[in-house]
Amino acid sequence: MSNSSGLRLVWVYPDLLSTYGDQGNVLVVERRAQQRGLAVERLDVRSDQPMPTSGDIYLIGGGEDRPQRLAAERLLRDGGLTRAVQNGAIIFSVCAGYQIIGHEFINDLGQRQQGLGLLDVVSERGPGERCVGDVLADIDQHLGLPQLTGFENHQGITRIGPHARPFAHVRLGNGNGTGDGTEGAWNGTVFGTYMHGPVMARNPQIADLLIKLTLDANALPPVDDRWYEALRNERIAAATAPA
Ligand code: GLN
Repeated sequence: MSNSSGLRLVWVYPDLLSTYGDQGNVLVVERRAQQRGLAVERLDVRSDQPMPTSGDIYLIGGGEDRPQRLAAERLLRDGGLTRAVQNGAIIFSVCAGYQIIGHEFINDLGQRQQGLGLLDVVSERGPGERCVGDVLADIDQHLGLPQLTGFENHQGITRIGPHARPFAHVRLGNGNGTGDGTEGAWNGTVFGTYMHGPVMARNPQIADLLIKLTLDANALPPVDDRWYEALRNERIAAATAPA
């Protein structure tokens, strides 16, 4: 971790990117770290504040098209998130946040807008209907996580370049929406997904993965996951039930 005060968890722009309940991811990382005896310093950084560069984990949520444009403009101007990644920080981004950390996306004005370029993905406006509904996905085997459930709600679709890998492959749902079955992307310490849910409330193993990366640890002390497992099994059963 970057300093001795504990795990520094940064929630990026709650005033712009908090439409879809992704605050839940912040709560889950905080709780899972505390359950392992780690002190957590949580920083909610609004879009009119400078982005600290000393965070360990940065969480970026989803948002509507206009707030997404404003967030991208401000993050680019600020530069702090890019410096944080250069320092080895972890980013976990959802939907609008995922599009923002890529190279570019189509904004609410229908224009190509520059992203932060922290992940080798490019987003465009999908030609079809908005992708809305449950998602079941198998996570990239390099990440060692179980099958994941989530909920997607996006118009943008995202193509992965050679310097990133799919975060997961969908069994149900659209994921990146490009028809190749991929969902989200990652490279090193930078992750993006289209899954809301919030995704870590459904899959706390993702929070554990980020904490392990922060600590450079192979494993964490186990915690009682029966409630999460029951929720996951319920969501998988609901998502795969015949209509
Ligand atoms: N505005 C983006 C899109 O529709 C992101 C939506 C979201 O964050 N759920 O693709």
